[in-house]
Order: sequence, then structure tokens, then C-alpha cells
Amino acid sequence: MGPGEREALIGSGGAGDQRDVVREIVQAACPHDCPDTCAMQVTVEHHGKRRIAVKIAGDPHHPPTGGALCTKVSRYLERTYHPDRVLTPLRRIGRKGAGRFEPVSWDRALDEIAQRLGAIAARNPEGILPYSYAGTMGLVQGESMSQRFFNKLGASRLERTICAEAGSKALRYTLGASVGMDMEQFENSRQIIFWGTNAVASNLHLWSRAQEAKRRGARLIAIDPYRSLTAERCHEHIAPLPGTDGALAFGIMHVLIREGWIDRDYIERYTLGFDALAERALQYDPARVAAICGIGAGIIERLAHDYWQVRPTAIRLNYGMQRTHGGGNAVRAITCLPALAGHWRDPAGGLLLSSSGTFDTDDAALEHPELLAGRTPRAINMSAIGEALLRAQPPIEALVVYNSNPVAVAPQSSEVARGFARDDLFTVVLEHFVTDTADYADFVLPATTQLEHLDVHLSYGHLYQVANNPAVPPLGEAQPNTEIFRRLARHMGYTEACFSESDESIAAGAFASCGASPYDWERLRRDGWQRLDVPQPYAPFATGNFPTPSGRCEFVSARLAALGQDPLPDFVPPYESVLSAPELARRFPLAIISPPARNFLNSSFVNVVSLRDTEGEPHLDINPADAGPRGIVDGDRVEVYNDRGSFTVRARVGERARPGVVVALSIWWKKLAADRKNANEVTSQRLTDIGAGATFYDCLVDVRVAGSDPARVSSS
Ligand code: SF4
Repeated sequence: MGPGEREALIGSGGAGDQRDVVREIVQAACPHDCPDTCAMQVTVEHHGKRRIAVKIAGDPHHPPTGGALCTKVSRYLERTYHPDRVLTPLRRIGRKGAGRFEPVSWDRALDEIAQRLGAIAARNPEGILPYSYAGTMGLVQGESMSQRFFNKLGASRLERTICAEAGSKALRYTLGASVGMDMEQFENSRQIIFWGTNAVASNLHLWSRAQEAKRRGARLIAIDPYRSLTAERCHEHIAPLPGTDGALAFGIMHVLIREGWIDRDYIERYTLGFDALAERALQYDPARVAAICGIGAGIIERLAHDYWQVRPTAIRLNYGMQRTHGGGNAVRAITCLPALAGHWRDPAGGLLLSSSGTFDTDDAALEHPELLAGRTPRAINMSAIGEALLRAQPPIEALVVYNSNPVAVAPQSSEVARGFARDDLFTVVLEHFVTDTADYADFVLPATTQLEHLDVHLSYGHLYQVANNPAVPPLGEAQPNTEIFRRLARHMGYTEACFSESDESIAAGAFASCGASPYDWERLRRDGWQRLDVPQPYAPFATGNFPTPSGRCEFVSARLAALGQDPLPDFVPPYESVLSAPELARRFPLAIISPPARNFLNSSFVNVVSLRDTEGEPHLDINPADAGPRGIVDGDRVEVYNDRGSFTVRARVGERARPGVVVALSIWWKKLAADRKNANEVTSQRLTDIGAGATFYDCLVDVRVAGSDPARVSSS
């Protein structure tokens, strides 16, 4: 049976049930914050008028998906039909944070919300702040009707920086856009460097291509402070200290330039600023870089040698490594490497951080910025939401949260929770579940899951537009985000035609093109996915054509210079490290990182019991060299702490974490952890050098056996 076809089954409603059951397959898209953007097929049974989703699978015909979904989304039915789904509007009846609510009607909820927002907007519309991120990556249920609503209000704008902003901006300043290799070419690479990415957990389908490359003889290298599932499956694992990737890139550059292992023709024709870059790179000899990164100088020499010799080499960079002070500069430095060595010449060489800039979204059609009517509201950085809620002037008076769970995922969680607990803050949360954030809401509004609404997606890891058709009607009284904002707009008295636009019409206008061809929503919706009309094989920078102002790969950026920033990349040390903050490091000698647990996606899926059971309980990976002096043995409950806060976890003593680094796989819901805390208790709200992004992995802590006397803790 194929998509759209129907199959009549007799008596499949259960033993002895002779009703007719019709089964069909609906083309859908995975909505989650993952580069793979899988095309999905949802099997739906029609029991009379009822439609029930009974199976979810990867589309076998979609080349990136290849018929496979990850473990998390394979359980999506468990998420959609979860007994804890919020299926009616809820109004708070307990104190903020207690998570006690009573059901109310939609009209009553929307009347009161409209009245509260309207009163604030009449005084100071910037007192209202939307807070949203990638709970769905869909263009319709993400920032379309919602953004129109906040534009019309004149609400404060949210700088959506929490995940990828340092890297995205760095790509823009260097390559011109978030454009890179085609993931389908990785199987043809001779060498693949996984830099700051656990592809097995977070980029499964590119990992499959790498496995094919490995079968054909390619060498796989992982660069990651943590011996992740990916690192242990690569031929070589290099484990620099967190926040030192930029120095490592300069060390490689140093050797390439010193040895003349550079593609002079490519540099001459297609790059800008080589002489200045070379002068800087020559300051980073391998001995200096080795000391910064905490690895051997010989490793840097060999890495540079292999990077030049083995062709084509692909770098799969991911966003983990840019969540430190120097994250933007580090991405700039790494992004210079393929141009220096000429790897872009081959479709199977170069670098992929994000492909999202290859897509031609029509943001004006989605968001209607004309509703701002000439106003430029202030911007609030989501990566410092705790600080904004506690100290922004004029204060934030109302918060509307959708597609996000900031109380669990935003840094320096205790400040975030204190901000959400303000009695004078009016908070509305659109959600599937009563999350850590929803616990603080004045109103929780029931949102639909991906199976219940329509959407259209781009990808930041491949080159296909993907459609999501609703498989089943909304459960209970749940509504799509678009419909919630449509209704809210009506209750506010907004009469602009764009507030009546249907989801189908929004999806039909979401893209300006499909690469070189026109965008055809009806066809996309029918087929489920459509590859962008770009050359095949795709080698975006084989002959230059960088979408920068100069048309070249910009080692030197006049745009950064105009902003008063260093026009060249450099190594920018972490805020918190032995080298940059020795006094702090004496008190808190361990660097902590909190990358995604395999069975969670940010904080999504933590409440799906089968996935949480697989994950077990919150853990801390710690090296025996760090555990021993602290009297920590495998299985101990330990407290991780610094001046910002603390949380307790179960110690896993072993070699996965390198000495000097501890790893707390994340992001647990706080209320589902034994101590109702997670790793964001210790992270900071400081921002990256470029893009003002979050710096989750720039954080020093110490660890002790839970309940032990701090005076006993060794800081050696
Ligand atoms: S989370 Fe990623 S790998 Fe999993 S189904 Fe979604 S897009 Fe595919």
C-alpha cells in the first residue's frame, strides 16, 4: 500500500469485531530539532468516523530517510496518545511552579488572555515577550501566525540564539550563508571528520552514509571531548578540552601553511585574506595548540597531514562545539580549512554545518512584518531569559511560550525559575504536556502534535522540502499553534486578512522557490518530499560562487570589521578554563558539557516512559583520574556544583569522559529527576563572541559525593 492509497480490511478491529476498517498511509515529516528532517509514513485506521494512527515509519523512498526513523520518533505514537496529554485549556489554581490547574473553556481562556495582553499592550507592548524555539521545526506551526500576532502587538522581539546562532553567523561571515555539502555525498568521502557531533545519536542518517563510506575504505575521525557512541565507532578519537576547537583548527592551519599543503590555485581564485590568515595561523604552532587543547602536538601534525593527503575529506561539524565563548570564531576557523586545502572542489569534500540557507523561505509571507507598522521593538536574548525576567527594564510583564520548555532548557536554571515564579508575570504556555515551564503558567493551552496538524519543513541537514499532512484530527480540544493565535487575534479584535489565512495557504506560500524551479505545494503535499532543484552532484563551492559580498570565501570579513570585531578568525578562550580563569579553575577544576542523551531530543521525549526507562536516570560520566581523588566510585550519587547552583546525579566512572571533563547527558525534565534539578543549574547566561548565542559548554564545576562535607572536597 502506498501513500494516499486506501485498503479495506475486514474485521481487523479486534477478535470477533466484524466492522470494516479502512487503512491508509499519510505522508508526514518529523518536526524535531534534528538535521535529518525525516519523511515519515503514518498508517491510519478509519474505524467508522474515528481515525487512529497505528504505525509510524520512515519513508523508504526518501533518500536521506531511507525508511528508518530514530528510536525517539519511532515512539511518536506513544507521545501523541500519551495519557498525560493536555487536551483542554487549563487555568492555574495553585502557586506558580506547583503545576496545579483546572480546566476552562477555550472562550474563557482566550477572553482572559486577550484582556490581560490587551491591557499591557495599551501601556507598553514591549512588556509582552514571545518565547519559542524548535519544539517544532515546521514553518507553519513555528513562526507564521504567531509572529504575525506579536508583530501586530508590537511585542518585544525574541533573539532566538539558544542553539545555533554563533555557528550560523560564523558561516554567514565566512561562506556567505548556511550552505554546505550535500549529506548524500558523504558516502563518497575518503575521510570524514565528525567535529563536535555525536552523529549516532543526533544525525543518524548521515552516520549511515559514513558507514557506507567506511565500508568503501574511508577513515573516520571524531573530535569531541567525550567518547560518544560516534567517537567509539570511529578509527580515531581526538578529545580536546571544551572550547578549544578554534585553537585546534589554527594548529591544523599552521601545519598546512608551514608545509605548503595548501591549494594555492583555489586560494588565489576563490578566497579573500589569505596572507592575513596565514600570519595569524603561524602564531599557533602545534606545541602551543597542544597545551591549549590538552592533546599531543603529534596528533595535530598527523591530523593536518591526513587532512591534506586524503582526498576528498568531509568535515561534519555540528553545533555542540560552538556553545562556548569563542564558538563563532571557532566555526570561522574550521570553515577556513576546506578552502585552504581545496576540498570544496569535490562534491564529497568540504564541510557541512547546516544546509538551511539553501532553502528559499518567504519570511515576509509567513510573518507579515508590515504589521509592525514602522515600530522596532526591543530585542530580548532568549539565552539570558533568566536575567531578562528578573532585571529587564521596562520589565517583562507577560510571556507567551510555545515550542519550547525554557525552565528546563535555558541556562542558569535557578534564575530562569525565579523569573517565571514572579507573581506579577502573566504567563501563557502552548504545550502538549505540563512541562517544567507549564508548571509556572497562568494558562496552559493544548497544542496539537505533528500527527494532528499540517506543516511544511526545510532541513538543516539535507536538501529536500518535506510536507506534513495531518494524519488524525486534533485530540480532545487541542488546536494547532496557528489556530490558537488565530483565535487569540480574533479575541484581541484584529481584523487583518492575514489572521484568517488557512494553514494550507500559509504552507503554499512558505517558500519562494524550490531551488531553480518553482515551489509547488500541491505536488509536495501529494509526494511528501521534493529535492531542491540544485545541480546533481551538488558541490556548492567547487568553483567559488560564495554568497558573500566579495563572492569569495572570506577569511577576512569587512562586515565583522564594520561591527568593531576582529575581521580575522582567532582562538577566543572559554570564559571558564584553567588558562583564562585560573582562580575560578582552582575552585572548580572540572569542565562540564551536557550534550543530548540518545533517547531525548533537547527536553522532548523525557516523559515518554519507554524512552526514559531506556535512558535510566541522570548520570555523570567522570574519568577515574578525577573520580579517585574525590573518593567517588562508580554508582555513587554525586553533587555537581559551582557558584551558580548544583544538581545530583549517579556517577559513571570510566574513560568516556577525558580527564578534566565531566559529562551529563541531557536534557532531563527537572521534575522527573530525583532532586528536581538538571544540568542547567550550573550553566551560565554569558554569550558567544559572534551571534550572542548560549554558552552551555563553557562551564567549570566540581563534583563531590552527594551529602559530603565541602571541606573534604579536593580541588587538586
Ligand atoms: S529526530 Fe531526526 S532522525 Fe529522528 S526521526 Fe526526526 S529527523 Fe529523523
